[in-house]
Amino acid sequence: MKIEHIGIAVKDLGISNDLFEKLLGAAPYKEEQVESEGVKTSFFAVGDSKIELVGSEKKDSAIEKYLEKNREGIHHIAFGVENIEFEIERLKNQGFTFINETPKLGADNKRVVFLHPKTTNGVLVELCEDVK
Ligand code: ZN
Repeated sequence: MKIEHIGIAVKDLGISNDLFEKLLGAAPYKEEQVESEGVKTSFFAVGDSKIELVGSEKKDSAIEKYLEKNREGIHHIAFGVENIEFEIERLKNQGFTFINETPKLGADNKRVVFLHPKTTNGVLVELCEDVK
């Protein structure tokens, strides 16, 4: 596994894009709408990892609900894996529970699942695998 990206929940993607562009010295290399999640994302390259900004595009999206209860900030850590089905089985056998056990299409051409924070010390963990 490697840290593929860190997801940050933001209220206004435009304002946060400007902020992270100043911070990292480079513009996002892509912006992408993820229809299935009702979000818009932007990605910044940081070495071999990325920062993913996630803003709500739809009423009642998971991110909007999150931002009603929490401040903007770090939302999830995504681990890149080679074989997502294998890792899901491995982690289920270790007692971890998932928000979605069946990989779905996420941003940046990935198949993704999320582990439930109640079994990961309060950290929302994403596993992602490149779509082959
Ligand atoms: Zn993510």
